[in-house]
Amino acid sequence: METDIEIVELLPGRLHQLNFWVGQGFVWRDDDGTLTLIDAGPAGSGPGIAAAVRELGADPGDVRRLLLTHFHRDHAGAAAEVAAWGGVEVLAHRLDAAVVRGEQPVIPPDLSDAPEWEREFHANLAPMPDVPPVKAITDLDEGDTLHVGGGTRVVALPGHTPGSAAYHLPPHGVLFLGDTVANVEGHTMRGIFNVNRRQAGESLKRLPQLDSVDVACFGHGDAIVGGADVALRAVVEALTD
Ligand SMILES: [Zn+2]
Ligand SMILES: [Zn+2]
Repeated sequence: METDIEIVELLPGRLHQLNFWVGQGFVWRDDDGTLTLIDAGPAGSGPGIAAAVRELGADPGDVRRLLLTHFHRDHAGAAAEVAAWGGVEVLAHRLDAAVVRGEQPVIPPDLSDAPEWEREFHANLAPMPDVPPVKAITDLDEGDTLHVGGGTRVVALPGHTPGSAAYHLPPHGVLFLGDTVANVEGHTMRGIFNVNRRQAGESLKRLPQLDSVDVACFGHGDAIVGGADVALRAVVEALTD
């Protein structure tokens, strides 16, 4: 099956972005040729991801792990399909892992303190299939270090969802942000559709404290390759509530 997923090269031979029909995931390649996926897109994306991996000159069997930034349908939807390839460890912050396992109910966004445009946008979203549960997920916590990219740090950023997490690769200056920040049409902004907008804002304030952030990868919108720390600091400085 041909992929209908657009592939965007971010760091040659190292990092590619996968554009799903909604949202984005990423393929990270380590020096030993093993691959790590960050988010899996909506349910049904599995064959397209496999095709994209082949297009990158690798094999789905090279994928060792899938890091989920959070439980939303546009990010965790195809996690079960990827897990079914075999040999892929699925990892998520423990609070969202429980939702993807089906142990905890999905918590809807609380838009009561969101701007009017965000509520209208939410009301007009295209329907998307629910997340098929993944039974085997490794729980992650703030500060955990993973053997990816020379040491990937788990940064817990509660608010978009309770277990939203960023993945930070200091040796490469790369940060995967999920939906805590978006970069829509060149406008870097706080994420929308939060379960707790105030808490999401507090989490955002941690981002300028991370050292070595040069490349920022978002769940929605173009990645920033070079100088991402400046853009993220501007998002925090623009917070008004
Ligand atoms: Zn989300
Ligand atoms: Zn999303």
